[in-house]
Amino acid sequence: MRLLHPAIQNGVKKGNPAFAGGTLTCKCADKPVKVKVAVNIAHNHACGCTKCWKPAGAAFSVVAVAPTDQVTVVANGDKLAIVDDKALILRHACKVCGTHMYGPVERDHAFKGLAFVHPELFDKDDWPEPGFAAFVSSVIESGVDPSEMEGIRKKLKEVGLEPYDCLSPGLMDYIATWIAKKTGVLQ
Ligand SMILES: [Zn+2]
Ligand SMILES: [Zn+2]
Repeated sequence: MRLLHPAIQNGVKKGNPAFAGGTLTCKCADKPVKVKVAVNIAHNHACGCTKCWKPAGAAFSVVAVAPTDQVTVVANGDKLAIVDDKALILRHACKVCGTHMYGPVERDHAFKGLAFVHPELFDKDDWPEPGFAAFVSSVIESGVDPSEMEGIRKKLKEVGLEPYDCLSPGLMDYIATWIAKKTGVLQ
């Protein structure tokens, strides 16, 4: 069976809903980048898109958000570079080990003010568990054979992660509501 992600492959470990944040550390043995997240994360999920950072061999990332103003680079920030400055999520990666450390959304968007982070990089392991799987069909774009998709969706459901080919209905509604208010069709 293909590795989906180490944090979901053998079942999802329940986290602490009152997790108070922690420090993310990149994979460098020497002078690792450290990023402090001062509050709990939200909307943790598995993501199959091609842009999220994934551990070696994994088809999915595990990614969540925190308010950008609660996210601070605390060590070796000179090793960070933005992966794609045209992307909605400004993923800041370690230039040496490639790990994505945080990705703020600064453009006018429903997610503006939030930063995407990978909770497996925390110095504690009781972060709130992923609640769904997003952009599942996109793993094909990373080279997964379409014939594997039935098994992948089945496995995601088995570990309690409902597979969606975009974001979850709750987040899609949130984005659509933001757009409807911006255009004025909703008050
Ligand atoms: Zn690094
Ligand atoms: Zn993604």
